[in-house]
Amino acid sequence: MMKIPYRYWLLLLLLLLIGCSPLRIDSQLSREQAIYSHQPPDVNADIQQQLVVVAVRYYGFDGNLHQGQVVIHQTLANDIRNIFETIRISRFPIASALPIAHPLIQEKGPYGLSADTDNSSGYVWRPVVVGARLSMHALGLAIDINPRQNPYSKGALIIPPGAAYVPSAPGTLTAESAVVQAFKQAGWEWGGNWTQGSIDYMHFQKLPAELKSWVTRYRQPSPLEK
Ligand SMILES: [Zn+2]
Repeated sequence: MMKIPYRYWLLLLLLLLIGCSPLRIDSQLSREQAIYSHQPPDVNADIQQQLVVVAVRYYGFDGNLHQGQVVIHQTLANDIRNIFETIRISRFPIASALPIAHPLIQEKGPYGLSADTDNSSGYVWRPVVVGARLSMHALGLAIDINPRQNPYSKGALIIPPGAAYVPSAPGTLTAESAVVQAFKQAGWEWGGNWTQGSIDYMHFQKLPAELKSWVTRYRQPSPLEK
């Protein structure tokens, strides 16, 4: 019988180990699909042009490594890459990170605009939750992380419906968590710090100085709305 060299056994073992914990691909849309498909009729082409698709890796609640995608304004792409490095290295679990155009999000409601979600996403063409003006998400300047663990609340309104904020639960953001710190160090504002009526634990937004006049073209400043 032929003797199999030791190094081949090592290689076989390595392949078996990799095979046991494969990378789960949650989302692999093209830029065209992620940014231009399943959009409401009033969507803005100038804004869409400035969006990019960032591939991100994270551990899921199943303990496996996943790859998803975040649609975000081009000036924030590096921030998102770096912050998801912190998310992955600190093993902060993410339920999913799918663009709003992904079929699994679209099946939940028209244009994927379902309040009952546990998806982490950046760009979505919609107004603010309570109000008529455009959300920072519509400009690609905001991201929500694990909505079900980190709900939005304003009075009796809770999004997603029935969600509860339990700081000790996995995937929950607190002021001390490495993920919140990473966002803050990169200059992002956290909705968990809001004090004027609403609190939005899932939400981070950033307005780079060079985009201020671009943003006021679409979104008149108002001290009372986020
Ligand atoms: Zn948000």
